[in-house]
Amino acid sequence: MSARVNRETQFEPLSAGLYIVATPIGNLTDITMRAVDVLARCDGIACEDTRVTGKLLKHLGISKPLWRYNDHSEARDRARLVERMQSEAVVLVSDAGTPLVSDPGFRLVRDAREAGVVITSLPGACALITALTLSGLPNDRFLFAGFLPVKDKARRDMLADVADVAATLVFYETGPRLVKSLTAIDEIMPGREVSVARELTKMFEECRTALPAELSAHYTANSPKGEIVLLVAPPVEAIFDIGDADALLVDALNTMKASQAAAQVAKATGLDRKMLYARAMELRGQ
Ligand code: SAM
Repeated sequence: MSARVNRETQFEPLSAGLYIVATPIGNLTDITMRAVDVLARCDGIACEDTRVTGKLLKHLGISKPLWRYNDHSEARDRARLVERMQSEAVVLVSDAGTPLVSDPGFRLVRDAREAGVVITSLPGACALITALTLSGLPNDRFLFAGFLPVKDKARRDMLADVADVAATLVFYETGPRLVKSLTAIDEIMPGREVSVARELTKMFEECRTALPAELSAHYTANSPKGEIVLLVAPPVEAIFDIGDADALLVDALNTMKASQAAAQVAKATGLDRKMLYARAMELRGQ
């Protein structure tokens, strides 16, 4: 099955402005019908790599002017694009996924806003969201921190900075650096579950969840290929709050003493045993 251009609307012009369009992260059919329609009707497309975007357009049966753009492009190139948006429909795409998410576009959007351009963003594929939904790690709160730094000390410093955040941590990663990152996570957050989501939406998609030391051993033996999202579970205190602990304590108090109940719930949740004992005594008194 492939997404194709809507032949009825493809010749109707789009109103002028900037259209931020998400594209597939591997499987070329992961593109919305609205995205295909906008690509087919726009006046031109600003993209990171004209060969990559050209391949997608060919697959969709679309031919449009392509303008190379990244956030390091000369200010005058950006100014020219913003000028175009005043009278033409300009699309911004990145090589894959959602533009601006660890990809170019921030400066362009900021300048377009300042110039009063009408801007809209078409949602679609994004590796971090795909990985988060697949991992089985808590997703009510997450912190996306982009790529980990390349240098060992900077990588450790960044991990130490976010280790106490009460949320699932999400990083973009590459195969050659994965084991180094897992080793650093094992040093800084040893007991936390980690997910490695690899080659999402592609033929060899894989999502492996385990302790960092186990994953590090696995990927040392099986060198990881392709693109990777790395996720770290929140600190246990963030997963189990006192409300969850109450339910476990009440249950345990049916069959054991307060001290035993506190020890059992501390083991299961990682919460402080003394605090749980005090809470168990309170619950017993109620
Ligand atoms: N803007 C993109 C998005 O919306 O996800 C991300 C671009 S960033 C330059 C590229 C990184 O995204 C890769 O190094 C990898 O960490 C992640 N990524 C992209 N596609 C992926 C895929 N199919 N499977 C796993 N990770 C992917």
